[in-house]
Amino acid sequence: MADLVTNDPQIAAIIENETTRQEQGLNLIASENTVSRSVLAAQGSVLTNKYAEGYPARRYYGGCDFVDQAEDLAIARAKKLFHAPYANVQAHSGSQANMAVYFALLNPGDRILAMGLSHGGHLTHGAAASFSGRLFEFAHYGLTPDTEVIDMDQVADLAKSFKPRLIVAGASAYSRIIDFQAFAEIAASVHALFMVDMAHIAGLVAGGVHPTPVGYADVITSTTHKTLRGPRGGLILGSEDLAVKINAQIFPGIQGGPLMHVIAAKAVAFNEAMQPDFARYQQQVVANASVLADALMSRGYKLVSNGTDNHMVLMDLTDKPLTGKEAETRLGRAGITVNKNTVPNEKKGPFVTSGIRIGVPLITSRGMKPDAVQQIARLICDVLDDVAAVDRVASQVKDLCRQYPLYPGEVR
Ligand SMILES: *Cc1c(COP(=O)(O)O)cnc(C)c1O
Repeated sequence: MADLVTNDPQIAAIIENETTRQEQGLNLIASENTVSRSVLAAQGSVLTNKYAEGYPARRYYGGCDFVDQAEDLAIARAKKLFHAPYANVQAHSGSQANMAVYFALLNPGDRILAMGLSHGGHLTHGAAASFSGRLFEFAHYGLTPDTEVIDMDQVADLAKSFKPRLIVAGASAYSRIIDFQAFAEIAASVHALFMVDMAHIAGLVAGGVHPTPVGYADVITSTTHKTLRGPRGGLILGSEDLAVKINAQIFPGIQGGPLMHVIAAKAVAFNEAMQPDFARYQQQVVANASVLADALMSRGYKLVSNGTDNHMVLMDLTDKPLTGKEAETRLGRAGITVNKNTVPNEKKGPFVTSGIRIGVPLITSRGMKPDAVQQIARLICDVLDDVAAVDRVASQVKDLCRQYPLYPGEVR
């Protein structure tokens, strides 16, 4: 950092400001987390200097001995962590992991059945603005109107009538356990392939607090930076027989040189995720989300599906005099960061929305437990109930964050 301060004070100041923002703000974005110093060290290393197109021992560049070791370790650890026969650790992001799998298993124009965006699915699950929606034909399933859980009858019906070549399970905004076995049975019954996109829940799966898709899905994609608490990137798992096809679609199919510094950081994160502390962390995440859900509902706020089994809750503000966008902005002024989110049967569109998504992975990484979570729920409801509470809550948020440093023991 000392060199950066001298050589590029503008960027150094931006990093310093962002560090302060992260330290002093209450970040409840469900897809974010805070990585260890070890992950940061690997990601900020000289491995960024190395070109290594290809795969370990089969590179298009010389000098790859050490980065080969890093990638071999990352692969071995990913396989061990998830008990998967095959892993590709080169995808630059979750979206690229999905793109590579679609390209490996399907032809342009083929049919895919996935969760609808407004019900919690991801852009790469067939949004018109995404490559996925442009290149493939999608049908979408959603939630049941009453209980607001994934409508497995609808999945089965669409599987029969739409005849997809691939069925995708996985979501960006869904607070319940996903029944991978039921999906796998439906896929088998229509001779479709089955992919699980566990981008959000990979850490919960690794920590044993969400059932694993391994053994049910033909292929699994993920990010490494959400609940898994690694560097920003993607991951693909599957059976050995898909290895050649998927590897070839990542490189040279859709990517060039792999980000070896990120791959080394993934290896560090996978190792961290195999430690007993990590399972305890994930148990705490689920416990914290459950406490948050109960506390919000006891103040009269409705949650999609009336609660949570995982790391986040979806607040449905349809009956409140407040849009998702307004709630996001108002909470932001109080130092609480959430994101607006569509709710099932959204009437207000994706830029305004009628809901917010609230996640606890990051605050749990900071060491917060149910007492802090109770307090956070109170602060959220105070602000949403009454805009006049913003200033008072903002100062309480700062006090709370001071008690839970991002990197304990560090002098800044
Ligand atoms: C976050 C997410 C992705 C994409 O990850 P990026 O790294 O942002 O490209 C894909 N699928 C799901 C379900 C996600 O939640």
